[in-house]
Amino acid sequence: MADVTVSQFAEVLKVPIDKLLTQLDQAGIKVSGPDAVISDDAKLLLLSHLRRSHGQADDAAVGVAAPRKITLQRKQQSEIKLAGGSGRARTVNVEVRVKRTYVKRDVLGEKAKTQGEDTEAKRLEAEEAVRIERERQEQERREAERLETENRRRLEEEAAARRAADEARRAVEQREREQSEADKQDRSRGTPAAGEARPAAARAGDARAAKGGAAETDRDKRTRYGRAELHVSTDASSRLKKKKKVRERKAPLGMEQRHGFELPTAPVVREVAIGETITPQELAQKMAVKATEVIKVMMNMGVMATINQPIDQDTAVLVIEEMGHTAKIRKENQIETDIQGATGEAIEALPRPPVVTVMGHVDHGKTSLLDYIRKAKVAAGEAGGITQHIGAYHVQTLKGGVTFLDTPGHAAFTAMRARGARATDVVVLVVAADDGVMPQTIEAIQHARAAGVPIVVAVNKIDKSTADPDRVRTELSKQEVIPEEWGGQNIFVNVSAYTGQGIDQLLDTILLQAEVLELAAPPGGLASGLIVEASVEKGRGAVATVLVKKGTLQLGDPIIAGQEFGRVRAMFDETGKAVSEAKPSMPVLVLGLSGVPNAGDEILAVESERKAREVALYRQGKFRDVKLAKQVAAVGDVFSQMAEEKAGVISVVIKVDVQGSAEALRDALTKLSTEEVQVKVVASGVGGITASDVQLAAASKAMVLGFNVRADGGARDAVKETGVDVRYFSIIYEAIDDIKQRMSGLLAPEVKEQIVGTAQVRDVFRSSKFGVVAGCLVIEGVVKRNNPIRVLRDNVVIFEGALESLRRFKDDVGEVRAGTECGIGVKNYQDVRVGDQIECYSRVEVARAIA
Ligand code: GDP
Ligand code: MG
Repeated sequence: MADVTVSQFAEVLKVPIDKLLTQLDQAGIKVSGPDAVISDDAKLLLLSHLRRSHGQADDAAVGVAAPRKITLQRKQQSEIKLAGGSGRARTVNVEVRVKRTYVKRDVLGEKAKTQGEDTEAKRLEAEEAVRIERERQEQERREAERLETENRRRLEEEAAARRAADEARRAVEQREREQSEADKQDRSRGTPAAGEARPAAARAGDARAAKGGAAETDRDKRTRYGRAELHVSTDASSRLKKKKKVRERKAPLGMEQRHGFELPTAPVVREVAIGETITPQELAQKMAVKATEVIKVMMNMGVMATINQPIDQDTAVLVIEEMGHTAKIRKENQIETDIQGATGEAIEALPRPPVVTVMGHVDHGKTSLLDYIRKAKVAAGEAGGITQHIGAYHVQTLKGGVTFLDTPGHAAFTAMRARGARATDVVVLVVAADDGVMPQTIEAIQHARAAGVPIVVAVNKIDKSTADPDRVRTELSKQEVIPEEWGGQNIFVNVSAYTGQGIDQLLDTILLQAEVLELAAPPGGLASGLIVEASVEKGRGAVATVLVKKGTLQLGDPIIAGQEFGRVRAMFDETGKAVSEAKPSMPVLVLGLSGVPNAGDEILAVESERKAREVALYRQGKFRDVKLAKQVAAVGDVFSQMAEEKAGVISVVIKVDVQGSAEALRDALTKLSTEEVQVKVVASGVGGITASDVQLAAASKAMVLGFNVRADGGARDAVKETGVDVRYFSIIYEAIDDIKQRMSGLLAPEVKEQIVGTAQVRDVFRSSKFGVVAGCLVIEGVVKRNNPIRVLRDNVVIFEGALESLRRFKDDVGEVRAGTECGIGVKNYQDVRVGDQIECYSRVEVARAIA
C-alpha cells in the first residue's frame, strides 16, 4: 500500500487530525505535521501503541471479537460501561454499537493492511463481522426475546454436538476464555492489568489465527439474508442471559459454563415443519428469524402477505428454501389418521354385492335400463328426459344383489362420472344398437380404464328394427373393447330396456364378473363409505346418498363427511323405506349431516360426535386457510388479471338443487372457455338463490344461473336493485347453450371486407382545378364516392385511401355502376397510371358465434 500523509490517514481512520497527531506522538512516532508522510512501519507502530494504550478494554474488545466469542464480548462490553473504562475505549465502543457507521471497519481495515499479514487480516475481518453482528443484536434483541427459550434449547443441542466433534478447537478456546475471564476479574476489581492483558490478547490472537479459516467459511456459509448472523444474534442474547444466571450461582469456571460460550460455527439449517398453510409469523418463529425477514423474502418472490395471513404450502416451501432451511411437509391429516381407530382388519371380510355404474352416450338408454331393472319409472319423471344426478339403487336378484349407480351420459357429468367409476366394481357400458359408438361411449371406456374397472357391454335397443348389434361390436373392438366370443375380455349382452330382453342375462353377467373380482368387505365395525350425492331438502335438512363400502352404518352413528359432521338421524333405502343399518355395497339416504358434503367425499362413522365435530371443524378451518392462502398467492398476478379483462369474461354464480349438478355445471361451463371468451364460475352452491348470491353476482359482474332452483323474495328485491341477470334452467345443456350464446355476444365482431366495385384506369388527366383525374371504366360492381379505395397495379395494392372526387361527365355523383365511365380523383395520390385498378370496398361487421 502506498504511503499516505497524516491527514489522509486521519481521514481514512475517521479520527480528528489532532487526535491522530497526539496518538502518533504518544506512540513515539515523529511527524512534522498533517502533511507529513506516514510510513507503513509507522502505522504498525501506532497500531501496537494504540493497543497497548487502550489496555485491557481494547484488548478485550479485540480479543473477544473472535467469531465464537460473542457472548463474552457482549458481556464485556456492558462491563466497560459499568466500570467506566477509559475515555477512548468508550468512544470506540459507542461508535460501533450506536450505528453501523463503518468507523471501525475503516480503522481496522487500515490496520490490517498496515500489518500486511494474512492471518491478521482474516482475524480483523472476522472481528468486523462480529461487530456487525453485535450491532444487529442491539437492534434485534427485543424481538429475539420471544424466541429465546426455543433458541437456547436448540443451541445447546447443537453446541453439544459440535463439542463432541471438535475437541481441539475447544481446547484452544478454553485457554482463551480462561484468560479473558481472568482479565475480566481483574478489571472488575478495578485494577486494569495492562501488562497481563497484552499476552492474553496475543494468545487469543493465536487462537483466532488458527481459527481464521473457520471464521471465514463461517461467513461464506451465510445466506444473503444474513441468516447465520441472525441466529448468532438471537442466540447470543439468550446466551448472555443464561450465562449471567449461571455465573450468579457458581463462581468457579465449570465445564458447563465453558460450554455455554460455544456458539454455532456453521449456519443452523433448520427443518421447518409446515402444514397445508402457515402464516409468515409462524414461519419466522420456526426459522428463528424476524417476521419482517420472511415478508421481505416473500416480497422478493412476488408474494404479498401480512404477518398473520396464511400462505400456502408451496409458497412456504419456497420461502424456507430461499432462506437456507429445509422444509418438512407435515402430514396434515395426522388428526384424521386415527379417526376411526383400529378397525377393519380385525373383522373378517365377507363377499359383498358388486357396485355397478351404468355409463354410455346420452339417450342410449341408461336410465331406461335401470328403470326396467328397478321396475320403477325414473326416466319418465325427469326434466328433459336426461338424468340430472347420480342415483344409487340396490337390486336383489335370485342370484344375488347388485347396486347400481346411475351416472348420466351427458358430457357435462364427466367429473362426477369419473368419481362414479372409482366407487365402482363393474361398468355397464350401454350402447344403443341403432346408434353405435358415440363420443361419450368412448369417454366412458376411458373412465372405466382409468379406474381399472371391467366393462360389461349392454347393447341396448335390440328391439328396434334398425338395431345392428354387430356394428356395435365392430366399433367397440376398435376401442379395444373386444367381445369374448371374438376372443376378447369383454362380455357383450344384447338387451332391450323396452321388452326386457336380455336383462336377466345382463344381471347374471354382472354377478359373474363380480365373482371373478372376489369382492369382499368386513361387514362389521364402524362404517366407511362414499357420498354419492347430497342436497338440502325442505324439512329434512342435508340429505346424502351414501354407499357403504365397509362396516355397518347404523342409526345414531356419529358421522363425518368432508367438512360436515353429524349423527345418522334416519336412513332410507332406494324404495324410501326407513332402515336401521346399511351393510357394504348398500346405498342409503342418510339424514343428519350438518351441511351438504360433496359428491365423492368419504363418509366415516366415528366413535363419538365430539370426534366428528373436531375433525370436521379442523377440515373446515383447513379448507378456509387453504382457500385464503391460495388467494394470497393469486394476488399480484396482475398481468393475468389484465389479460382477463381484455378478453371477454362471462362470470356466473351457480345455484343448483343437488351438489352433483353444481360440479357438473361448473365443469361444463368452464370448459366452454376459449382464448377470447372465458367462463368464470364465481361461486356455486346448493339451494335457492338468495340475496347474497345476487349481491355476490353484482359485485363480480356475474350472472346468476339457477338450476332447478328459484330466487327467493330477498333475492328478487336484490335483482331489482342491482339489475343482475338471473336465469333458470332445468336441463344442463340448455344452460350451456345459453352461456354459449352469451359468449358469442362477447366476441368482438369480425370485420369482413367486401369489394364493392372495381374501376379500370383508361386515361389520366391533369387538371389545374382537380389535380390528377383518372378516366375510368367501372368494370365490376359499383364504385361509391364515400367508400374507401385501393389502387392496384398488377394486382398489387400500391395505395390505400379515399376518393377525392367521383364524376360523371361534369357532375359529381355518389356512385357509378359497372359498364359506366367516370372520372376519379384519388385523395392525396397523384401517381395513378393507365392500367391501374381502383378498387372500392366496404367493411362489414359480422357477428361471430361460439362453435
Ligand atoms: P339415457 O340418456 O342414456 O339415460 O337414455 P334414456 O334411458 O333416457 O333413453 C333415451 C331414449 O331411448 C328414451 O326415449 C327411451 O325411451 C329410449 N330407449 C331406451 N331404451 C330403449 C330400448 O331398449 N328400446 C327402444 N326402442 N328405445 C329405448
Ligand atoms: Mg338417463
